[in-house]
Amino acid sequence: RLTICDFTKTFDRTTVIKDMNLVVEDGEMLALLGPSGCGKSTTLFAVAGIHRVDGGAILFGKRDVSHLPSQKRNVGVVFQNYALYPHMTVFDNIAFPLTIRREGKADIDRKVRAIAELAHIGDLLARRPSQLSGGQQQRVALARALVRQPDVLLLDEPLANLDARLRLEMRSEIRRIQMETGITSILVTHDQVEAMSMCDRIAIMDQGAIRQVATPSEMYRQPASRFVAGFLGNPP
Ligand code: ATP
Ligand code: MG
Repeated sequence: RLTICDFTKTFDRTTVIKDMNLVVEDGEMLALLGPSGCGKSTTLFAVAGIHRVDGGAILFGKRDVSHLPSQKRNVGVVFQNYALYPHMTVFDNIAFPLTIRREGKADIDRKVRAIAELAHIGDLLARRPSQLSGGQQQRVALARALVRQPDVLLLDEPLANLDARLRLEMRSEIRRIQMETGITSILVTHDQVEAMSMCDRIAIMDQGAIRQVATPSEMYRQPASRFVAGFLGNPP
């Protein structure tokens, strides 16, 4: 499980996250949902080790990773603006996290092919990103994030750049791949339908704090506050 414990983050004396607490259970996919600027991406950056924490701790299982650099945390990320490497083939893009760790060629080959099969891009390995559709590119990004079997998978608005039809298709594909790999995941979104349809539980965040964590149906039946009720509006 992933534990975010009393996490605080300050930028230039402005505290944007204050004593935030959140637990993501093993194998769970949790949606982090909230208005723009509430601190969703900042939270993911802290879990990934891209931002340091100014207070509190991040734990993977019982291990406190708060002070480990990003390279020493086994995290897979798919961020909206973390593009594929355009000059590399799909194979080399997916292999990249293993190549920089200097894994053996045979191991890399086996792992890349396995995850590419799972993501249904096994026949695209020789192409370059510019020769792929938007959905295929997202599959490659997901495969690259998963190839080293991360402890935690972080997805920040992974579907935001896709058209409506692809977004629907990739919702169920991301969920299928997450369930088949069983990786503990956080999906950041401000789309409540996406959160409901893809995730085991939803955490509602506002102004740097978690307001409620519940399953989608609990959340609609019993919103913990007016803010949550107002934010969710009417169930779709
Ligand atoms: P969105 O849905 O728009 O992506 P978000 O919930 O991901 O929003 P964050 O990017 O986490 O929001 O930002 C939270 C707050 O922290 C915002 O007020 C933002 O302006 C501020 N912030 C984020 N990064 C920095 C930074 N590097 N320096 C200063 N302030 C920052
Ligand atoms: Mg964001």
